[in-house]
Amino acid sequence: MTQWLFPPRPVPSLPVVGGDARFPVRRILCVGQNYAAHAREMGSDPDKQTPFFFSKPGDALVSDGADPAYPPATDELHYEAELVAAIGPTADGGIGIVGWAVGCDLTRRDLQAEAKKAGRPWDAAKGFDQSAPCGPLTLGARPDPAGAIRLTVNGETRQDSVLNDMILNPDRIVEAAAALWSLQPGDLIFTGTPSGVGPLKPGDRVVVTIAGLETLRFEIRP
Ligand code: MN
Repeated sequence: MTQWLFPPRPVPSLPVVGGDARFPVRRILCVGQNYAAHAREMGSDPDKQTPFFFSKPGDALVSDGADPAYPPATDELHYEAELVAAIGPTADGGIGIVGWAVGCDLTRRDLQAEAKKAGRPWDAAKGFDQSAPCGPLTLGARPDPAGAIRLTVNGETRQDSVLNDMILNPDRIVEAAAALWSLQPGDLIFTGTPSGVGPLKPGDRVVVTIAGLETLRFEIRP
């Protein structure tokens, strides 16, 4: 039996809708600039650049209705509403998308802008502690591509789009990710955010909805 130097951390996980099962999370891949209007608001030209990947550690996950803390070292915490695809074993014995959830890609926008300017990695801007709030996982078919993806802050609508506005749809995202990594059961893929990203402050109440999935709700703790 392995003798651990100290107790290993518990595996981050998501509740699965409609039962007691939990989805064990391995790592979190995220797609950048996968909605044209958001790429433009970030100063990019979606016609000249294809969406790309970055990542968050699996333990950045915030689940089960927990509230993330306002992170240190930023004055510009931003929300990004996202459809999340969950990778697992498929019925045909392969690996693929087995479920869906509503996520929020929390971002230190000021650190991201500095990193972009200096040509440095985004880890501190994107992969910080508690940067990945995610709702419960719904197993089965992809949500209706014509369905809405919306985010409100304190009841005010800030993002309002449809999943169809994605540049790479979830199948193409998985294809692109699988060309770069060996996807494994437990991987989550945040599929990008529509336009309308903006700041959050302590005490703000965030609600993210995607038609057909469980709503994600959280409050930014001081
Ligand atoms: Mn994002």
